[in-house]
Amino acid sequence: MGRRVIPHVPMRPLWRCRSCGAAWPCQPARLSLLVEYRGNRTALLVYLAGLMAEAREQLAQLNPDLHHRFIAWARARD
Ligand SMILES: [Zn+2]
Repeated sequence: MGRRVIPHVPMRPLWRCRSCGAAWPCQPARLSLLVEYRGNRTALLVYLAGLMAEAREQLAQLNPDLHHRFIAWARARD
């Protein structure tokens, strides 16, 4: 059994790299995304925007105190 190569993909819901542990997209992930989407920067940006929306939601759920502290108390109740 050979050593497994772990790809630089995000680990949800923490959005850290499964391979190197850096905040995703880590440098190797950025490089491979640039290669994968070479010639289609718009598609890459659309893809990343979708992931950012997902990450924002999941990271907010991990930090509910932050939501309470800044937003929840100020919401109108009706
Ligand atoms: Zn990585």
